Amino acid sequence: MLPPRSSTSPPDRRLAVSVVPQGPRTLVALAGRVDESAGLSSVAQIPTREVVIDLGGITFINSLGVREWVRALRSLLGRRAEVTLTHVAAALVPQMNMVREMSAGTKIASFEAPYSCGKCGHEGPLMIDVGVHGDLLRAMSAPKLPCPECKATMVCDEIPGQYFLFLELDQAAARVG
Ligand SMILES: [Zn+2]
Repeated sequence: MLPPRSSTSPPDRRLAVSVVPQGPRTLVALAGRVDESAGLSSVAQIPTREVVIDLGGITFINSLGVREWVRALRSLLGRRAEVTLTHVAAALVPQMNMVREMSAGTKIASFEAPYSCGKCGHEGPLMIDVGVHGDLLRAMSAPKLPCPECKATMVCDEIPGQYFLFLELDQAAARVG
């Protein structure tokens, strides 16, 4: 049912996967496009108990990429790995809000949200640390962050009650106790 493979992505746009074992944990960094050419088997096979995956370099994901990602994550969680996602790129958040399996069962440490500055007009994604801003996020409220250009307070362009759903913070709070 899949369309024929007409072309492949240029090499520099393919997903770069870095897997670095570090004692009891493995550090993973993904950068580039997550699509049908993304090979995540090296991630799926990580044997350590703790796996920290940096998603800050992801620029794009399509439905086949979502499938690859969910397959890898399911493999890790199936082995009871503790999976932490850091720097979740803005390109991934809307997908994670639609496809719960993309982040369910993981702990999200930080993620990007689109912000804009009313003073100088600067627009861009800002990184939100879930540990620092957990109380606000749990209340479905966007933290006020300084503009990197003019230091004025920027506002989040997304609706917090929708954009922050993937964090599943109530469950996270319940787990911590
Ligand atoms: Zn500004």
